[in-house]
Amino acid sequence: MSKQSFNAVRGMNDILPTETPAWQFLEQCAADVFAAYGYQEIRLPMVEPTELFARSIGDVTDIVEKEMYTFLDRNDQSLSLRPEGTASCVRACLQHGLLHNQTQRLWYSGPMFRYERPQKGRQRQFHQIGVEAFGLAGPDIDAELLAMSRRLWQELGIDQQVRLEINSLGSLEARATYRRELQAFLRDHMGALDEDSLRRLDSNPLRILDSKNPETQAVLQAAPRLQDWLDQESTEHFAQLCAQLDALGIEYVRNPRLVRGLDYYSKTVFEWVTDSLGAQGTVCAGGRYDGLVEQLGGKPTAGIGFAMGMERLCLMLEETAGHGSTGAVDAYFIVGGDAQQQEALQWCEQLRSRLPTLRLLMHCGGGSMKSQMKKADKSGAAWALLFGEQEQADGTLTVKNLRDPAITQQALPGERVAEYLLPYLGM
Ligand code: ATP
Ligand code: MG
Repeated sequence: MSKQSFNAVRGMNDILPTETPAWQFLEQCAADVFAAYGYQEIRLPMVEPTELFARSIGDVTDIVEKEMYTFLDRNDQSLSLRPEGTASCVRACLQHGLLHNQTQRLWYSGPMFRYERPQKGRQRQFHQIGVEAFGLAGPDIDAELLAMSRRLWQELGIDQQVRLEINSLGSLEARATYRRELQAFLRDHMGALDEDSLRRLDSNPLRILDSKNPETQAVLQAAPRLQDWLDQESTEHFAQLCAQLDALGIEYVRNPRLVRGLDYYSKTVFEWVTDSLGAQGTVCAGGRYDGLVEQLGGKPTAGIGFAMGMERLCLMLEETAGHGSTGAVDAYFIVGGDAQQQEALQWCEQLRSRLPTLRLLMHCGGGSMKSQMKKADKSGAAWALLFGEQEQADGTLTVKNLRDPAITQQALPGERVAEYLLPYLGM
């Protein structure tokens, strides 16, 4: 019989115990910061009707054309693994009447799926934390969202490594006009366009603006500029946003080439980028999508949001060692032998009841005191609690600090151990 072994699907990574502290730190910081701005969590399914993404993200975007995991279920319905969260969020809000005469500030997190070429900072299953605000049309909410993201970078300790780029795409009408202008210009310069750009010329010419091809970029120097075609309202909206960012001391650069890969954006778009991750430098991206709710069957409703890539943020946290995680446990409980086992379990339960945040690992599986001590040391625990024959006879636990030689080892009545440890645990 041959032994078959399995590997994870290419581009879909395990997140190992050594990595999860950074993830938990990121998740906790985000939840705290969002709560401080009155945002509520929403949890959404990972699978949606394919049509939802085609209608919202756009039929001719890279995501819908080439990157979606699409399949027929047993009922021959076309479903897709979600490539992003905004469409699902809007769908859920409409389905449950959450946009009816009210505003919403929402956040979500979880895995997203895109069939892309896996590389550092780019996976096929990746994770996003996303934020969406509905029913708010003014630049105040744009500024608040950016202030909120800045606060998160500060909490994570990476604010010195990210910078903000913003742009305005104008109204959908203004963008349509500009699109025609740009198309006409590019048709006159087709010789300088690579295959990718030629493919986009008809379907999604704005995406050509962020082509990485130097020859294309050279031609684009003389191309019509989006900012010259903006409608009055978008121009004012953008100017007010800039003024509010200045007032908040949020630095930014205007990047006239910033267009984003999804069709639904209008007016404000932005990206937080870093130089510390190589080519995959965008850690958070978003913008305003005032037409999307209506496009998905709702009443016209303003919307704005962003999504950040958790893998990329965790890579940054690893580099800065910013998540301040220490060992997995605070204390390691050493059990003398079989005769002590039952009581050892009881002591451990009692300690956990008295010190609810104590991370206590009870040794299981026997072995000498010496080998258990080695394991205690390796566990990273600051404390070892010993329970052998002598302790059992005396009703004590021996408490030993493994890291600080100035703290002397002592046998304490078992009942008093919680009280003794408390000041050391920073609870
Ligand atoms: P990129 O230009 O890097 O492909 P995008 O414009 O496709 O990004 P969005 O759809 O706006 O990205 O997603 C928001 C964020 O999610 C990105 O800025 C990035 O941090 C993260 N992200 C997107 N795709 C991936 C992926 N395949 N793997 C890891 N993170 C990703
Ligand atoms: Mg992409």
